[in-house]
Amino acid sequence: MAKLKPGDRVDCRVKQATIVSPYRDYDEVKTFEIVAKDAFGYYLYVPHYWLINGTSKADKYQCKSLNIDKKFLDEKIIYIQESMIYKIHAVLDGMHCSNCGEFFQMATPNQSNGTLLCWSCRENPYR
Ligand SMILES: [Zn+2]
Repeated sequence: MAKLKPGDRVDCRVKQATIVSPYRDYDEVKTFEIVAKDAFGYYLYVPHYWLINGTSKADKYQCKSLNIDKKFLDEKIIYIQESMIYKIHAVLDGMHCSNCGEFFQMATPNQSNGTLLCWSCRENPYR
């Protein structure tokens, strides 16, 4: 499985308010945002109005030690093993230009080989 990073989103199967393995029976599929990771799994953000078992509050200590963005301070988070991910929701929120390497948010491929060439590089291929 691809190595995900904070900000990426994953879909997990949920049954009776518990995240279950991708091979189990489920009630619904929910999309979670990754806020931190370790060697074996991920910490996911759980909106306060979702009822999910096993969450904890992202306190100051956790935010610091796990490097969680402070916008998630005092929000609910849950830890899952990588194997609990049903599927990756959207890994890319942009692309790197294949020529200059600059990152463009929300960019999509614009070349026939599936890469992105940014506007400046298209205007001036030798820059
Ligand atoms: Zn470029």
